[in-house]
Amino acid sequence: MNSVVALVYLGSASLFILGLKRLSSPDTARTGNLMAAIAMLLAVAATLVNQQIVGYTWIVVGMVAGSLIGVVMARTVEMTAMPQMVAVFNGFGGGASGLVAIAEYLSWTQGGALNPGGEVSMMAGTVIGAVTFSGSMVAFGKLEGIVTERVVTYPLQKTGNTVLFLGILAAAVLAALSPALNVFLAMAAGTLLLGVLIVLPIGGADMPVVVSLLNSYSGLAAAAAGFVLNNYALITAGSLVGAAGFILTVIMCKAMNRSLTNVMFGAFGTGAAESAAETGERTANQVDAEEAAMLLGYASKVVIVPGYGLAVAQAQQKLKELADQLTERGVEVKYAIHPVAGRMPGHMNVLLAEADVPYTQLYEAEEVNPEMPTVDVALVVGANDVTNPAARDDPESPIAGMPIVEVDRAQNVIILKRSLSPGFAGVDNELFFMDDSYMHFGDAAETIPEILSAVKDL
Ligand code: NDP
Repeated sequence: MNSVVALVYLGSASLFILGLKRLSSPDTARTGNLMAAIAMLLAVAATLVNQQIVGYTWIVVGMVAGSLIGVVMARTVEMTAMPQMVAVFNGFGGGASGLVAIAEYLSWTQGGALNPGGEVSMMAGTVIGAVTFSGSMVAFGKLEGIVTERVVTYPLQKTGNTVLFLGILAAAVLAALSPALNVFLAMAAGTLLLGVLIVLPIGGADMPVVVSLLNSYSGLAAAAAGFVLNNYALITAGSLVGAAGFILTVIMCKAMNRSLTNVMFGAFGTGAAESAAETGERTANQVDAEEAAMLLGYASKVVIVPGYGLAVAQAQQKLKELADQLTERGVEVKYAIHPVAGRMPGHMNVLLAEADVPYTQLYEAEEVNPEMPTVDVALVVGANDVTNPAARDDPESPIAGMPIVEVDRAQNVIILKRSLSPGFAGVDNELFFMDDSYMHFGDAAETIPEILSAVKDL
């Protein structure tokens, strides 16, 4: 029986790897997701035939409750609340792995046997699991607006965290040398506190990067739990999540041209900078829906740049209708997708996929940039930072060096947003004041249908 279980685990681990590989392209992502789900089902089924299981009642209760909660959450979550949901799931994953390690420790204190190296994996599982759990709950709270989204700083913050971390490390060594339940529980409590203290100071807008990092931690906690239980599928799956989460974190930091240290300790994204645009010092060109429709309808090439505001307005379906209408008129339409447009990785891809925009119309920023001077109209929909020329031209800008979609090099730019307010980075956008830029103010949920009907009337 054991060799059958080992074989199923091997098959499940292979499916995880293949599934992850397929997630790298939108075309294959759905089947990749399905493969990973089947892999998880196989792993759970193989675990259920484990001969060490003493009773199935609580397992069934847990599975039914967990499945119900999962299905309801996945079905009802708003697209814009996806980062919160991922934060909660990471937290639960880390928490579950931590509890496995704690249960094994309790059994050790009562004379139970450990796998070789079990002491180290129990400590790692508890520490990483607890930090992931409490950190993710704070991240969830910030994203949901329950916990302050502001950057929280106080005197001796870093020193305090370092002292706490060293204390946890010392307790972990003590608790690993011989069973010492009180020391172990104090370590677990300290670790929960550390998770809160690490995430609390970070601004709400940086939470997606933090969530991605915590996702990586939840994988490491699962891998540690895998070592505790000597479960190969858990070790493989956990390591995959750990590595994938970390790579994603690095990609996000790169796309924002910021270091991970800057995200974790940089007190960025507070939105505190006063905007010269908002204070009325400058004026921008404006167009109404009919003028915007004329520019778009008589263009030969249009590039659409979606951003966070499109997700807020939930206007992706209407945007697709507008693009289709333009295509029908013979206009060549492309979407330029910036890697950190929106508030979570792949946000725009998911949003546009919801509206059935074909993947073939989606282009990476660097693919579109070289042809920008030949683009008649760049239509910026609820995007701001990802189009800000200051990132390219002003070395002093807080977003200097961040790659952008260079809409300022197009013949004309139409910008759909509600005001001249800055975006996430709190930086004014010179683009709004350029000669060939035209603002069309309003909620994209209303302005896009207006432009669409004006294009139909042309
Ligand atoms: P921005 O936050 O720069 O700008 C979004 C704009 O959308 C705002 O300026 C807002 O202007 C406008 N907007 C909001 N609601 C609406 C609406 N209903 N209708 C029309 N417009 C609306 O977003 P970008 O996508 O350009 O850039 C993303 C930013 O987020 C980058 O700075 C990136 O670094 C950061 N970030 C991204 C992450 C990711 O994973 N994608 C993670 C963490 C940070 P107004 O209020 O005037 O309407």
